[in-house]
Formats: sequence, structure tokens, C-alpha cells
Amino acid sequence: MSQAVLLRIAEVELLLRRKQIKHLHLRVSPPDGIASLSAPDRMPLEAAYAFAASKLDWIRRKQAEVRARPPAIPLSYGDGESHSLWGEHYPLRLVEREAPVRVEFLEGSILLQVPPGTPQKRKGALLALWYRGQVRQAAAPLIAQWEPRLGVRVERLFVQRMKRLWGSCNIRDRRIRLNSELAKKPVDCFEYVVVHEMAHLLVRLHDHRFKALLDRFLPDWRLRQRRLNDLPRDPAG
Ligand SMILES: [Zn+2]
Repeated sequence: MSQAVLLRIAEVELLLRRKQIKHLHLRVSPPDGIASLSAPDRMPLEAAYAFAASKLDWIRRKQAEVRARPPAIPLSYGDGESHSLWGEHYPLRLVEREAPVRVEFLEGSILLQVPPGTPQKRKGALLALWYRGQVRQAAAPLIAQWEPRLGVRVERLFVQRMKRLWGSCNIRDRRIRLNSELAKKPVDCFEYVVVHEMAHLLVRLHDHRFKALLDRFLPDWRLRQRRLNDLPRDPAG
């Protein structure tokens, strides 16, 4: 269990947690804009404090941005509701009839065919499963295309819904995990995440070598990254 300490610098409050990590990690979480700093357990408090003090402007800016976001509207999965697919919004076409369940992209809308009286939760689960399939389907050719370029091999791909990460990489087992929510984001952002995780097979940390690698293979990666993180996480569509 890590213990959190509340730091106050000027008017900014942030939670400091000690963890067995190598680098400081600062974040501002929606929807309240709570700032938290994870610091290596051996780092002196003054050093963590100095780091936080040097980031006050960034924290204030991020907090303003996070707090200004409209609250996520819960989805109802009703006919015509807007849903995202690869960065575009499409109306949901809800067809309720006694027939096999179907989810597919059809003529500019997302068709969801379910038996009458299907609960919202089940509709959401069916769509989530479909998004997962979309990511899996789109990732396979991308990985195949990037393997020879980067000179790496991905042993296994997992797609699942994740709260905090867009993707992760198990270097030892050469396994890549992608967030199923990526199916809602623009394809170039998706490609960035795939390439980022694959690049970890060559460089473990986000150090200068890692960045140089991305610069070389995906020169506009910073733009794609910014675009991905600027987009609302769970848009009502
Ligand atoms: Zn990474």
C-alpha cells in the first residue's frame, strides 16, 4: 500500500504517493482535476516538492482544461444516438426484432440488432465486444506491416478495455495489449499507439533512444499523441 501525502504549493494541492518506480509521474485526473504525483520511494521529499513546484503552470492549465470538459453523458443506445468509429460519429441504428444479434457498420450507421426488450447494459456490452473486434481486426495488418519495418516480432495481441492506458507491452513475452476504446479514435492515433507499443520491443523506457526511434519511423508521432490525448476520453458518441 502506498501512502498519499497532500502537498500544497501556492494555491495548488497535489497528492504525493511514494512508489517503487524509477521516474516521477505527474497527472491531473478528470473530472475533478485532482493532481497527483508518484515519486520514487527513495527520492527526498524536497526533490519531489521542487519538481511539483516547477510544474505549477502545467498543473493549473491541465486542471482548467479537465474541469471545462462537459460531463460524459451516459449512453442509452437508442436509435439515432451518435457513436464513434475511427474518429467519426455515426448514428446508431437500433433494430429490435426476434433475430440473431447483429452489430455491424452498415451504410453510414452502426447497426445494432437485438431482440425486443434487450436491457441497455446488454446493448452496451454487445457494442463493446464489437469495438474490441474492430481493434483486433485493424491491429493485425498494422502489426504485420510494422514488424519488418521495426525488425521486431509480436508474439500475441490482446485487446481489452482499459481505464488508464491506450496500450501496453510485455517485452519479455513480446505481447501487446491495446485498449478497445481505440476503435473510437482516428486511425492515425491508433497507428501511433500500435507503433509505440511495438517500439518498446526495441527500447524499454520512454528515454531519448525511444523518442529517436519514433522520430525516425513515425516523424509526426507527437502530433498524433497530442491529438489522441486531447480528444475526450469517453465522448457521448
Ligand atoms: Zn510506452
